[in-house]
Amino acid sequence: MVKLIVNGKEIDVPENKVLLQSLREKGEHIPGMCYDFELEPYGSCRLCLVETPRGVTTSCTLKPAEGLEIETLNEKIVAMRRTALELMLSDHYGDCIGPCQEGCPAHSDVQGYLALIAMGKYHEAVKLMKEKYILPAVLGRVCPAFCESECRRNLVEEPLAIRQLKRFAADYDLEHGPWMPEIPPSTGKRVAVVGSGPAGLACAYYLRTMGHEVTIIEAMPELGGMMRYGIPPYRLPRDVLDKDIATVINTGIEVKTNTVLGKDITLEELRKEYDAVFLGVGAWKGRKMGIEGEELEGVMQGIEFLRKVNMGEEVKLGKRVMVVGGGNTAMDVARTALRLGAKVTVVYRRSKEEMPANPREVEEAEEEGVEFIFLANPVKIHGNGRVEKVELVRMKLGEPDESGRRRPIPIEGSNFFLEADNVILAIGQYCDDSFLKKLGIEAKRGKAVVDEVTLQTSIEGVFAGGDLILGPSTVIESIATGRRAALMIDLYLKGKLEKAKEVLIEPSKHIDEIVRDEDLYRILFDLKPYNHWKDVTEEDYEHVERKPRVKSRLKPVEERIKGFVEVEESLTEEEVLKEAERCMSCGCMEVFRCKLREYATLYEAKQDRFKGETNRFEIDETHPSVVLDNNKCVLCGRCVNLTHEIVGEGVVDYLFRGFKTRISPPLGNTLGDMDGVFIGDMIDVCPTGAISEKLPFIKPGPWKTTPVKTVCNGCSFACEMNIEVYNDMLVRASSVAGWNNGHLCDICRFKRPWAEDLTFPLLNGEKVEWDKVREFIESHEDIALILTPELTNEEVEYFKRVAEEKGFKLGAFVEDGISTATLEDIKKAKKVLLKADIEKYPYLKVLLKGKEVVEEGYEVAIVEAPAEPLNVPTLILHEGVNEVGLLKLGVKGLPEAEAYVVIGKPRKGLKGDVLALPSGLWAEKEGTIINAFNMELRVNKAREPEYSVKEIFSL
Ligand code: FAD
Repeated sequence: MVKLIVNGKEIDVPENKVLLQSLREKGEHIPGMCYDFELEPYGSCRLCLVETPRGVTTSCTLKPAEGLEIETLNEKIVAMRRTALELMLSDHYGDCIGPCQEGCPAHSDVQGYLALIAMGKYHEAVKLMKEKYILPAVLGRVCPAFCESECRRNLVEEPLAIRQLKRFAADYDLEHGPWMPEIPPSTGKRVAVVGSGPAGLACAYYLRTMGHEVTIIEAMPELGGMMRYGIPPYRLPRDVLDKDIATVINTGIEVKTNTVLGKDITLEELRKEYDAVFLGVGAWKGRKMGIEGEELEGVMQGIEFLRKVNMGEEVKLGKRVMVVGGGNTAMDVARTALRLGAKVTVVYRRSKEEMPANPREVEEAEEEGVEFIFLANPVKIHGNGRVEKVELVRMKLGEPDESGRRRPIPIEGSNFFLEADNVILAIGQYCDDSFLKKLGIEAKRGKAVVDEVTLQTSIEGVFAGGDLILGPSTVIESIATGRRAALMIDLYLKGKLEKAKEVLIEPSKHIDEIVRDEDLYRILFDLKPYNHWKDVTEEDYEHVERKPRVKSRLKPVEERIKGFVEVEESLTEEEVLKEAERCMSCGCMEVFRCKLREYATLYEAKQDRFKGETNRFEIDETHPSVVLDNNKCVLCGRCVNLTHEIVGEGVVDYLFRGFKTRISPPLGNTLGDMDGVFIGDMIDVCPTGAISEKLPFIKPGPWKTTPVKTVCNGCSFACEMNIEVYNDMLVRASSVAGWNNGHLCDICRFKRPWAEDLTFPLLNGEKVEWDKVREFIESHEDIALILTPELTNEEVEYFKRVAEEKGFKLGAFVEDGISTATLEDIKKAKKVLLKADIEKYPYLKVLLKGKEVVEEGYEVAIVEAPAEPLNVPTLILHEGVNEVGLLKLGVKGLPEAEAYVVIGKPRKGLKGDVLALPSGLWAEKEGTIINAFNMELRVNKAREPEYSVKEIFSL
């Protein structure tokens, strides 16, 4: 051991261990991409830099010396690491996430949920949506779908119909018992949420999912804000709204309706009673035009009009209604007035192209018979106590204003008149500043002023979101702020708000705190992750097959205008599955594991700091299970070292020199041409997603999986591995620290023995129903229960008891022979006798690397069962994973019987009637096994089993 002074603290580290590793073991944050603990370090990535009094150097190569002073994270080192990262990023061509996700104001994982929808996993898709937003059935109807505008299919033909796919999944979820989040135990903290529009509901929901107690204070009799009192039911049926809101409230949120803040309750009272307050009171005041005649009877505010209609109040309209405005509110007012029997004209001061309303709404309004006058503006409303006609002026378009749209300019002398019985103004909404000021909240131009990072208002502990801070926005934008506020309130309640703000502003100044504090880490990667982007044009997608976008179906116009039935129809499931398949899965499959993205986020690396020529390599997709994408490679070299130095397969190497260097199989070959049984191992060592797995799903995600440590059941090595699971999907096998140093052969990875089993009983090789199983057992006197090596020790014990109690004979498919060699014996030996088929036991390749296989003078022997140990330490290999367990528990041999019940897949050697029962997926088992080295290893279940064969025997 030597004593080092690391960041001013004394620590002891082993002299002969790689310093990088010792520092990491002591909890220091040392980034790195090229270091592999099985190999000599060679410092290619330049990320593990540390500073000593003699200068900056890589910690994977620095020899620890007594008293050496080291700094691991000072400004200089952060800057140098950032530069190293930016150099890598400058020639890294790929997208971290799809542009759809970036385009969504809530940054929901669109690609992930579309992949689930493509597989018919609708509940799971909704669950994923709800990580970032609530009310998917509402959004599936009214969202402007910013994601679709960003969809890369725009460069091919038309964007994916993401909104309609969401609607289908959400409706399915509501109909079949909605997915509900698990609520953790109460934190004891109480939060008041004022307003139950999308912002308030989102804030309440996400606070609840963090275990806080939440009360919603709402002025109106029902929940939903503008979704209920603004948006008309022909676009958003109220039963859908009610069901969607119920999934929020049923998480255990207290609701107080008909309670007005500022009248029935004060902000001081709320602050006293609750630990924090969220304001989501929206923008409920309609803008006036400031023209003569606005006070006449028959002039109304659009939102007032909609609120009354939506509450079922009688609204008296004349025959001719003029609607002023060009936004969504104007469209809703016009179409609602039309449904009440009026002849409706919309007047808008700019041209159709400048209309802020969703083009879909404008088109539907036109179809229904709403008339439009563009480039005109009312200047006076005429009438004698009541509206009679409106004087308008024609407009022309000038230079763009601050909104980016061309400014409308009145044309002098162009005034004209239109007769009207009502004028409904829909020219904008805001929140009343005086209301906010009375509460003591700083306000500016109809919006509450908030800290843009934390969303805290001018009063400590009072946060705000939605239209109140954005001005009139959309449901999804309001939800996004509601969720952000919930995250911030949670941090506030934990006393970490200020720190979180600093982290979000300048993460690279707080790396040490971020990596040590789960909350800070989570907030950074939730709200400000690094995202890399490809520069693409239509040409990049010339090869992509053209597939037309699914067409929306609307009810016939005559039916629509009769009342308030929903205008747009649902897609069929067939249409949904076909449409979801159009997704091009732009985001990287390794986005959740990518080290480059993680470090780029922490170090605030920029993609374009070093601009210049970039490589564009062809992606090698020729291997059935592995993709090699050199565009994402950072030349860390770990795959090359692994395949040469550790497994000795030499599947890839560096090709060419300098800027054009790439990782490749030998010149003229592709990955698909290469032989090797550890090709998949390169996926796990690749830090960037340049080598990734083709997963066996219609759309492979990516999804954020949970790794469950277990062992492989491919052979008696029982290599330790992770099964990565997402919901109940067994996504993939991956490496984990274990006796096998994380190596997994391609049989384990790609043939997935752990995800396979009999799924039904087999009688003499023919599928039979479960009720035949009992009949078979009861109708035979002389039964032998035959166990297979895919049973855990605990299962073997159980079936031993079954045999004893039921009077069955007992046997097992197992070959004799228990090893006398340990793993260490094999590792140490230089000369080995090998009498085993390396194809059946791929890990032998790793074990034998660097050893001499000899017939005489060997130090250890490796043989296949059945076998007796030789006079040197002998490793006896079995095909079944737990044959040694069976042997040690004394279960072996195949007894003679009239009938056999096999637990698991039968093998040869049984004469008589054979009933085979599924023993359960390996990935669903829990217990222990003993491998060929006599190691007892734990088997953990990655998901709950659907059935248990034990039920048949009911001990
Ligand atoms: P709101 O939804 O306005 O909710 C505020 C809540 O606070 C209300 O329930 C209100 O009663 C309550 N409240 C107010 N004052 C108090 C008080 N003092 N005490 C207690 N409670 C109070 N967006 C889309 O995405 N797609 C669309 O198609 C769409 N169409 C729209 C059509 C119309 C007519 C309108 C007006 C808006 C539309 N929007 C649409 C916008 C969207 O509805 C809003 O952006 C969103 O509802 C704002 O959410 P919020 O939670 O901030 O506020």
